[in-house]
Amino acid sequence: MLKQPPLTHDRRQFLRLATVGAGALMLTGALPAALAHASPAPKAANNLNPQQALARLMEGNGRYAEGVTKRHEFMSEREALEGGQNPFVAVLSCADSRITPEYAFDTGLGDLFAVRVAGNFVTDDGLASLEYAVAVLRTPLIMVLGHDSCGALAAGVKATKDNATFPGKIQGLADAFKPSVRKVLKAPGDLLANAIAQNVSDTVARLKAESALLADALATGKLHIVGGIYRLHSGRVELIG
Ligand SMILES: [Zn+2]
Repeated sequence: MLKQPPLTHDRRQFLRLATVGAGALMLTGALPAALAHASPAPKAANNLNPQQALARLMEGNGRYAEGVTKRHEFMSEREALEGGQNPFVAVLSCADSRITPEYAFDTGLGDLFAVRVAGNFVTDDGLASLEYAVAVLRTPLIMVLGHDSCGALAAGVKATKDNATFPGKIQGLADAFKPSVRKVLKAPGDLLANAIAQNVSDTVARLKAESALLADALATGKLHIVGGIYRLHSGRVELIG
């Protein structure tokens, strides 16, 4: 697994805020009570339940795929969002430059909380970010978004199948995908495509299993976690898992 990077000022600030959120949860002992102290919710249209959030997300992807995205009023949105945020979705996506979640779902400022890392897998910092979105910002939906021809998963396949080695920290990244790749080594079809889908499914499962905070939100119906694959050719996101 990757080593922890040194703490920057911004990261220290974020972890402090995240700790405050987690502390509030421990004190109250229940997710809904802690959420009563959450930050302001400036976008009324983002106060959705998980099913409504998923429907809105996929409608936005449809507009993007068909080339009929909305005109976004960034000037007025900046003003409205100065005092807080209430994004209706958190997306854990790959860092690949061809996938931009805000574009792919036709969202404006304050709509989509993005956590990005090559290969869209669970890291401690990524999980903390998602917990912050759910517990403090009341985000009702998490999507794990993989994509066609993912270079990170291709490295994971090579590391698993051919014992390939990679320079620098890339080795740790490639190694992180080995458990998912091993599950599909003998499956029919394209190995990379299968590994990409398996990694998304495994990441969804890990988010559900490894965070008490997310599990609480799931159990109370405040949160839904879903996987998707972004198709490079069409721009469409196919839901999986
Ligand atoms: Zn990728």
